[in-house]
Amino acid sequence: MAKNKMMVKNLCHVDSNVDEKWKIGIREKVCGNFPLLELEGIPYCILHLPDNNKDNDEFNQAFNKLIENTTKELIKVENVTEIEKENLLSKLTFDFRAICFPNRFRFNGQRFTVFTNFNGAKFLGDVLFNGVVFDATISFNSTEFNGDVEFRHTIFSEKSQLYFIQTDFERRIDFYFARFSGYLLFLGLQPREIFVNKSSTFTQKVYSLDKRPQYKFKPNVILDFQHCKVEQPNKIIFNSLNLYPNWFIDINPKEITFTDVWWENINNDFTKSNVKTELRKLEERGIRNSKQLFKITCRQLAENAENNGRFEEASSFRKLAFETERLERKDKINKWWREEFTPLSFLMKSSEMIKKFPYDFAHFSYRWSSAYGESWRWATFVLLLVIFLVFPVIYIQTNFQSCPKEKPLSISLGEKSCTTGGLPFGEAIIHSLTTATLQNVEYRKPTTVWGELWIILEKIFAPLQTALLALAIRRKFMR
Ligand SMILES: [Zn+2]
Repeated sequence: MAKNKMMVKNLCHVDSNVDEKWKIGIREKVCGNFPLLELEGIPYCILHLPDNNKDNDEFNQAFNKLIENTTKELIKVENVTEIEKENLLSKLTFDFRAICFPNRFRFNGQRFTVFTNFNGAKFLGDVLFNGVVFDATISFNSTEFNGDVEFRHTIFSEKSQLYFIQTDFERRIDFYFARFSGYLLFLGLQPREIFVNKSSTFTQKVYSLDKRPQYKFKPNVILDFQHCKVEQPNKIIFNSLNLYPNWFIDINPKEITFTDVWWENINNDFTKSNVKTELRKLEERGIRNSKQLFKITCRQLAENAENNGRFEEASSFRKLAFETERLERKDKINKWWREEFTPLSFLMKSSEMIKKFPYDFAHFSYRWSSAYGESWRWATFVLLLVIFLVFPVIYIQTNFQSCPKEKPLSISLGEKSCTTGGLPFGEAIIHSLTTATLQNVEYRKPTTVWGELWIILEKIFAPLQTALLALAIRRKFMR
């Protein structure tokens, strides 16, 4: 981009997205007396110049001057009375509105003790707030982060309120070892566009919230709370956003406030692609023990959802946790085959090896019978399938003594009018139904031990499955 370094007798353009009425204040407080430069015929001060190749030294000088100006005011405030001080402090601002920060920008352990305003700012590359202390409100309203954002070891004190309102993130937001004592708000507007792409970037966005851009999901955004310390988790608020469960490992999201949040990847399908996608994302981030961490996180998110009356969501999270547990067990089984099993060792100490085999029949049956007691549809399907198909097919092939219904059994037996053999299909269904409902039929009895055994099995299975169905229905509506 051609850039002519020349004085232009004009006003800084600030940013096309900024409303004219805001520009007056911005020119006064931010642009100040910095000389104007020109980019494609439009005048900008060095701070607002939207050019990645702008002179870094010149930009840093101007930016430090801006910080210095507010710091000077802060020093003046030191010598006034407490009441006056509060009043004066509330008027002071670190005003960084609509500033365009070039490539990789680093804040060097500053302490921001008054309102720090990054509204409408653009970070063209990565930005590091590592080690910075925030003691007041920090606003990132409609700020654009085109690279990674790091808040490593950053301290947000009790007085801090960190606002990300309709902020545009493109990559990683990293709170490694950060300490939160104040409020943290992520607010998107409908339809939850903070973590999503807009098809038209940079247009009519800043300060004009009514014009809603089109959006699609951004694949590269990651929210990372690993190792951060949160004093009051309920002061962390996510509102009107789309979120991924894997972002919440290692923070314990039980008490975080989620309002109107759309969770990605929580709906189950038969291929379990969602669980796999979530785990893959964790693995891509180099997180070891991804399955264990994710399982714990899902249980915590389920608890959060349940405590706040979002039962369907809670159910989805529980299913995710169970599925992750299943994958964890699969890994263990593979390991067992690979590392422990040899035909010889199995012959030598078979009982010990069977005990060690990481298979869990209860988990397996729970999953297959009712999707962990969470899916009433699946539980109904299994119940009907077993009563109307599986057991009838068994009864067709089992020997029964069938006597006429209309006569007393003793007479039928005396007349020898009873027949033996497998039941016809209709009769088999009726027999399966009566067994499932625990009724005893005198005139139709199995003649073999196997037959009796099947009937006992159905009498155990049917009430158990009905109980699981009841559980799944209950969970849909209450805790
Ligand atoms: Zn300017």
